[in-house]
Amino acid sequence: MNREKMEAILAKIKEYDRIMIFRHLRNDGDCVGSSKGLKRIIQLTWPDKEVYLIDHDTAQYLEFMGPEDPEVPDEIYENALGIVVDTASEARISNPKYKLCKELIKIDHHIPLEDYGDLSWVEEERSSCCEMIVVFYDAFKDQLKMDPEAATYLYTGMVTDSGRFKYDGVTGDTLRMAAILLDVGVDTQTLFARLYLEAYEYLKFKAHIYERMQITPNGVAYIYIDRAMQEEFNLSLEQASACIGNLDSIRGCISWLAFIETGDEQGSIRVRLRSRFVHINSIAENYHGGGHACASGATVYSRAEADALLADTDALVKEYKETHEGWL
Ligand code: AMP
Repeated sequence: MNREKMEAILAKIKEYDRIMIFRHLRNDGDCVGSSKGLKRIIQLTWPDKEVYLIDHDTAQYLEFMGPEDPEVPDEIYENALGIVVDTASEARISNPKYKLCKELIKIDHHIPLEDYGDLSWVEEERSSCCEMIVVFYDAFKDQLKMDPEAATYLYTGMVTDSGRFKYDGVTGDTLRMAAILLDVGVDTQTLFARLYLEAYEYLKFKAHIYERMQITPNGVAYIYIDRAMQEEFNLSLEQASACIGNLDSIRGCISWLAFIETGDEQGSIRVRLRSRFVHINSIAENYHGGGHACASGATVYSRAEADALLADTDALVKEYKETHEGWL
């Protein structure tokens, strides 16, 4: 069935002379990697096709992958095929002009909250959308072209979305697809240095996090980052949001949350939810969010709502621990 979907997608790509690629708001390594990787594969394979990727909001830590295309007039979108990668719902597509495209394809690995587009290929058990793009490449490798640049984009997304091949969603297929990319050529030493080296000042912020984090009675680790803390350490929203990764290795804390005040007009607070063993996407879905079973995002609008989300997570973890064994 997925083979049929991939064949249908390939046929659509062949049919159109112009293709616009889209991805999600608050972009991450997977949506940047899969969008740029797919664009590169199409350009290498069909040099005469026009392929655009227009999104002016690339996260700072991903800027090493290079800029996207400048904006184009609306008419350019109108006769094009649109392909949206790594984006569960229409509201999360970063460039609203996707609506102008003649036809739209969705390629995604999130739990589908809503379907959109004329053709949709969703495999929620895949560890990244980049993995799906490599599966697509592998299925038609007699027709498609890949080079080290494309391989590096795709490997970046595979590495970042799987926590360096650590998360639950990693399968034999994940490593087989990663192997294909390494065979094409990825400078992993440079890539890992770009992604994971930290500035000395950031380590000071980390130390602060470890001092300020708290744990609920049933073992949910959390940190609340207000605007004052972001200003004290001179952090962008993105840098402040990265603190979620510092709470992931506490024995007994099978879920961990970061609340980050965004400073926008609505007073919105970004919530990043993570877990092992227990699934927390249902909590995110109750607070204007969604995502994956063990990695979701949500938004709340007050401290009281943040406390309610925390209490719900604590109750979920309590129930899980009482009814399951083997968690760590
Ligand atoms: P984040 O903590 O923002 O990195 O989000 C974790 C995962 O959940 C990512 O795969 C996001 O794409 C996804 N996600 C975040 N926010 C939402 C949302 N509002 N709706 C659906 N998925 C989301």
